[in-house]
Amino acid sequence: MTLNNIEHNINFFNKKLPEQTKLIAISKTKPIELIMQAYNAGQRLFGENKVQEMVHKHQLLPKDVLWHLAGHLQTNKVKYIAGFVNLIHSVDSFKLLTEINKEALKNKRVINCLLQVHIANEDTKFGLSKIELFDLLHNKALSELNNVKIIGLMGMATNTNNNEQIQAEFKSLKYLFEQIKSGFNLPNVALTELSMGMSDDYEIAVTQGSTMVRIGSAIFGERIY
Ligand SMILES: *Cc1c(COP(=O)(O)O)cnc(C)c1O
Repeated sequence: MTLNNIEHNINFFNKKLPEQTKLIAISKTKPIELIMQAYNAGQRLFGENKVQEMVHKHQLLPKDVLWHLAGHLQTNKVKYIAGFVNLIHSVDSFKLLTEINKEALKNKRVINCLLQVHIANEDTKFGLSKIELFDLLHNKALSELNNVKIIGLMGMATNTNNNEQIQAEFKSLKYLFEQIKSGFNLPNVALTELSMGMSDDYEIAVTQGSTMVRIGSAIFGERIY
């Protein structure tokens, strides 16, 4: 039996990643047929960055796919994914968290969330500053959000060839992760996941303790927009 490229790539990552690091296959812009090739290679965790696209693919793909949202999420779109989303990587405000909680309650679910932290030396990336991160965690109303659970942090490093810089940025996120993990005693804050690393920088992210790498082009090929 000959493997197609996508199956080959999924197998490659499964072999290469350490046991504590999960592979999130970022399938944005890619058609169902290619996603099914990854599925048939055993992949179940898929990530998208647009709500509409994720809803569409959720309807068409097998129901045991676990859908992760990794892109910026607008509050008015939470309702479309609240019934099925497995993990939201991109929570960047208390307002958004409150909305996720409201829609999760309607669906009688608890939705797992990661707080997205701005670690890059670039203006273009979304995410909470360090101060905003701690403000959110210290918000008195946080403990009342019974239908969300903050299970970790997500960050994107600067798009640069400077590996030392990328490493320093991931290290800073890992440090925040450890600080929050030991410093917050709330029922709905229990950090286990550190989502960092993409196709070009996942190896560095893994050395810094990533538990989830979000890999798109290295699995599915370059995206054409
Ligand atoms: C597109 C995307 C990825 C994957 O990027 P690749 O470089 O193709 O691996 C990871 N995370 C987020 C948030 C993305 O939008």
